[in-house]
Amino acid sequence: MYGPLPPLTKIRIGVSACLLGQHVRYDGGHKHDAFVADVLGREVELVPVCPEVEMGLGTPREPMRLERHGGSLRMITVNSRIDQTPRLERWASKRLDGLADEKLSGYIFKADSPSCGVDRVKVFDGAEDPQPAGRGRFAAALIERFPELPVEDERRLGDPGVREAFMRRVLEYSQRSLALARAVSVVRVTPAGVTQEADCAAVEEPLEVRLNDRPFAVIMRTPGSDRELAAGFLFSEGIISSVEELGAVEHCRHPDHPDVHNVVNVFLLGDARARLADTLEHRRNVLATSSCGICGRLTIDSLRTRAQAIRERSSVARSVVHRFPEALRARQSLFDKTGGLHAAGLFGVDGTLITSAEDVGRHNAVDKVIGRTLLDAGLPRGGHVLVVSGRASFEIVQKAWIAGIEIVCAVSAPSSLAVQLAEEAGITLVGFLRDRTFNVYAHADRLRNGLDAVPPTS
Ligand code: SF4
Repeated sequence: MYGPLPPLTKIRIGVSACLLGQHVRYDGGHKHDAFVADVLGREVELVPVCPEVEMGLGTPREPMRLERHGGSLRMITVNSRIDQTPRLERWASKRLDGLADEKLSGYIFKADSPSCGVDRVKVFDGAEDPQPAGRGRFAAALIERFPELPVEDERRLGDPGVREAFMRRVLEYSQRSLALARAVSVVRVTPAGVTQEADCAAVEEPLEVRLNDRPFAVIMRTPGSDRELAAGFLFSEGIISSVEELGAVEHCRHPDHPDVHNVVNVFLLGDARARLADTLEHRRNVLATSSCGICGRLTIDSLRTRAQAIRERSSVARSVVHRFPEALRARQSLFDKTGGLHAAGLFGVDGTLITSAEDVGRHNAVDKVIGRTLLDAGLPRGGHVLVVSGRASFEIVQKAWIAGIEIVCAVSAPSSLAVQLAEEAGITLVGFLRDRTFNVYAHADRLRNGLDAVPPTS
């Protein structure tokens, strides 16, 4: 399902919904901005977001203000004195996942808002005059999640110089993002019908980290900042304890694959170098299962030696696929309490839930599901669907392949290598499964029931 990258993907910019004339303000009004809505809106695709309405406060609603309590800024309703910050944070953690899938290249906030203001929002801290020194709580969460995303507010964009600089940064960001995307073709299933379309998937490739020329670990990552990734990985794994133990960190070429840049060699110094033999010995068992990749191709080749492409062709009805996220969500007891866990569920193709699990790590949740099934009675081949609450990465499809699971459904996007691996493994890969729509990235034939409008893709 791979093809050349489309020449131009329309740029998407997130925007505070009130700036587009939507009646979402606390008083039921709007703050239509002619440049944002009418001029920019013709050139790019604007993605409106109103945090206060989307988190369920409705319109009209009681106004809020930013207050400093202890070391933190809180969103407090002016009269009833309700702290809405926890509610916003719970909503934002999910909404930001959705915005990651929207592939935004910039964001325009409404100035002065306790939710959306980028800076100089009034902060009440008991002093007589509130200080213009705060950042709206949603703006803060978005900037923390996407630190490199160009952001501005509509007031600053009134300055032609700021406007031009912002658009230049948006363009650069969009071009960088495109370099990290790979074209895929998908079968898109919506209530309006079934179409075959071009789409992009985030690139995922393995990075082999070597220590003093000897294989140490393989990390699945989005290419870019590889030297930083290797250094940070070694630090967080306790291999180095300070920068003094880090010598040269350099990309090297595999002799058989000179065009591939997925190997970084790190030279250790000082105590880290003295511990090198112990470090490599300790890692040996891990390498036995993971040192398989210099490029995605080799990784997939080595997997093929462990597992045959799945030949079973069970079919699952479209109506059953639509029900999976809700059925999984109903079992997410910890998520409801903490708002921060990943879930995985194993279903039959008739929609019956076999087992589910939650974990802070989405791969762990999948391992728990597969492990439970193994411990119970083994995993018979055929007729299983793995549903995950987040993205479909290479590793999740890899786990499904080794377990012989025919269909993988993800609530969010798949990576490029997940799509490639699903094709090789004979796995049906569904992404963006939410709101009664989904995309099929590989082996759509198992979903033929209800997809007759498109030709089979394999
Ligand atoms: Fe909604 Fe933000 Fe506009 Fe307030 S400033 S109405 S929270 S979009």
